[in-house]
Amino acid sequence: MNCDRCGVDASLAHRDVDGFAYYLCDACINGWDAVRGSSPEAGDETRSTAQ
Ligand SMILES: [Zn+2]
Repeated sequence: MNCDRCGVDASLAHRDVDGFAYYLCDACINGWDAVRGSSPEAGDETRSTAQ
């Protein structure tokens, strides 16, 4: 099977992102988690409550 992100033929793991199912290799999962971790899910909402 091929990774949905980089297309490498490897053993993939399932990831559910924003309601879509992706099959990603280890490298892409690590990168994906790093990106997701740096941006909270409701990041824009928390900013507007500063007042
Ligand atoms: Zn990949």
